[in-house]
Amino acid sequence: MVQMDIREAREALKLYFGYDKFRPMQEEIISNLLQKQDVVVLMPTGGGKSICYQVPAVVMPGICIVVSPLIALMKDQVEALLVNGIPAAYINSSQSSEQQYAIENQCLAGELKLLYVSPEKLLSSGFLSFLKRINVSLFAVDEAHCISAWGHDFRPEYTQLKALKQQFPQIPVVALTATADKLTQKDMQEQLYLQNPKVFISSFDRPNINLMVKPGRDRFNKITEFLERHHKQPGIIYCLSRNATESIANKLKTSGFSATYYHAGMSPQQRAKAQEAFLRDDVQIVCATIAFGMGIDKSNVRWVIHYNLPKNIESYYQEIGRAGRDGAQSDALLFYSFADVMNLRNMLQDNDAAKNQSELQLVKLERMQQFAEAAACRRRILLQYFGETLTKDCGNCDICRNPPSTFDGTLLVQKALSAIARTQENVNMTLLVDVLRGSRNSQVMSAGYDKIKTYGAGRDISTMDWNRYLHQMLNAGLVELAYDQNYTLKLTEQSKQVLFEGQKVELVKFEEVKQQEAEATVRSRPKRELVKDALFERLRQLRKRIADEANVPPYVVFTDSTLQEMAAEKPTNRIAMLAISGVGSQKYERYGHEFINEIMSFMTEEQSKGNKIKGATHLVTFEALQQGHTVEQIAQQRNLNPVTIFSHIATLYEQGYNVSLNNYLTKAEYNAIAKAIAKLGADAKLKDLFEALGEQYEYFKIRLSVAVYKKEHQ
Ligand code: ADP
Ligand code: ZN
Repeated sequence: MVQMDIREAREALKLYFGYDKFRPMQEEIISNLLQKQDVVVLMPTGGGKSICYQVPAVVMPGICIVVSPLIALMKDQVEALLVNGIPAAYINSSQSSEQQYAIENQCLAGELKLLYVSPEKLLSSGFLSFLKRINVSLFAVDEAHCISAWGHDFRPEYTQLKALKQQFPQIPVVALTATADKLTQKDMQEQLYLQNPKVFISSFDRPNINLMVKPGRDRFNKITEFLERHHKQPGIIYCLSRNATESIANKLKTSGFSATYYHAGMSPQQRAKAQEAFLRDDVQIVCATIAFGMGIDKSNVRWVIHYNLPKNIESYYQEIGRAGRDGAQSDALLFYSFADVMNLRNMLQDNDAAKNQSELQLVKLERMQQFAEAAACRRRILLQYFGETLTKDCGNCDICRNPPSTFDGTLLVQKALSAIARTQENVNMTLLVDVLRGSRNSQVMSAGYDKIKTYGAGRDISTMDWNRYLHQMLNAGLVELAYDQNYTLKLTEQSKQVLFEGQKVELVKFEEVKQQEAEATVRSRPKRELVKDALFERLRQLRKRIADEANVPPYVVFTDSTLQEMAAEKPTNRIAMLAISGVGSQKYERYGHEFINEIMSFMTEEQSKGNKIKGATHLVTFEALQQGHTVEQIAQQRNLNPVTIFSHIATLYEQGYNVSLNNYLTKAEYNAIAKAIAKLGADAKLKDLFEALGEQYEYFKIRLSVAVYKKEHQ
């Protein structure tokens, strides 16, 4: 029985969503729900939570009620379901009572498989008793962490959701969230009165996001370089201040990029406009404060840049998590400067109201800083922070792509430490570097630092590099920063070991030029890849046209990863198109034809430019036949032997293209040739068939007959 259900679920996954298999955990979650078991799902953004209730909703009799606090998202989610051929609707207070009434009628008539409701609506008077009149299969509580006062996003109305289990004890509830926090998770179960729920916690890793950190110096130019390599790819630049979002967006526009800005100081209309333009791929870049992103479902955000250091790893991870929800390769680039750290520290310390909190916040900031300065796999550090251990390096971060080399930095470190000692631990980093580099500025001279032994001992190293080495020393505990004493540098136990006990120190060499190569997208690409990119761009444009006509965001039509697979596989018939992940039968019916046409005309153009595309030559012939050319004409145009053109026709016929063979082969001829094929087998050499038939039939007729024979005897 259960086996049967999960098979149905798998079929529904393919039929409606176009996916071949469930991701880890999805299948188990679904089979539990099908057995009416309560379930808690903790999965990162982009992990595939929606499938966990949408598939059961489709296969179970009745209607699934989805409680979601994000009214703005409901419309998109419902549109995405409708495009997949799943009847769904949403109901919330933004609608007129007529609209709401119409939807209630659809529910009563059993016409819907999913209904999205806001918590307010769900708990409004009469709605629960309305639900008793319809056949509810399942309750899905999305963003379920909102129920917990411990979480970062508490919504008081959510606490009333316990009414669900009280009033509908038989109906399974699935609570879903992307928040990993243990306390919140426990709270969720208790508050919803879930009955012995099965808890599924998936890895919070987002392996498709390439993690990169670059020094903050000259960041605007680095951003424009980055954007050149991410032509037309949508992305977000997170900035610390509202002003910065505006000024960076304007600078980008002046440099010819498509950019806008978003922050909480704008009017709701302005914000909605910016967001909409981004969702629809009308604008490529949004420069935003952290106010942007919550409640944005755009799956094709290809990159996220942090213009400034985020204040903790939680925020950083949440923000980069907005990239690559479709699973396709994406980039997260963080700019790191010491000035940002200072700024954040000052902000935290000034914040008297939260004095008892600021200690913790400072520690969190330090962890963020350590991440930025790390010389080991960044993903390991991130996941470790969330209590998950990777068994090997990730291979998709700048450190893994370009492992830093180390050198014996003992002498260098000794020079710095000695200078710190000789200046009575009274200098900050800038002044220390001035001393080491032998600067004659007034601060150095007035303190008489030009008289100490290590003055100018580090002339050969640039200011920039000194800063980096000093940061490494800080991270390694070789020196400390006295935040409360004007950021002066202090010696530690470890420094003494290096200074006096011959302890050796390894330092990491930084090579900026190499850093660029660390990016996933810039490896010099083989021609095959370039062709793929060009086709992807064509498909993207087609998707945009279709989406605009249907008034939906482009990723609702197909995700980037689906388009990428199409660009790689170049499906030109129904079977091949349906094999692409993300092409379900409903979407095939709607869009399949247009995408096949686009792929075919792309390939034809490439061929005619002399770019050979494997497996496409027969399609050029097809195109020409469609235009009414004869075999002889085509052979002449393409400078090929007519026999080759006939073999194209045979291939087309075998692949199910609509080509008629009547002009080339009569029924009688076929019948005669088929006898020989039956004797020698359909895989026999044409030459053998030719001889067996007494050399009476031309080769091309034999080739065509083989195609027909194969089709008849499949
Ligand atoms: P979440 O709600 O957890 O943030 P979504 O449900 O939006 O994630 O899923 C993220 C992306 O992954 C979507 O594009 C979705 O279609 C895709 N996806 C989900 N499940 C599968 C699967 N089994 N196979 C392939 N893609 C999937
Ligand atoms: Zn790594």
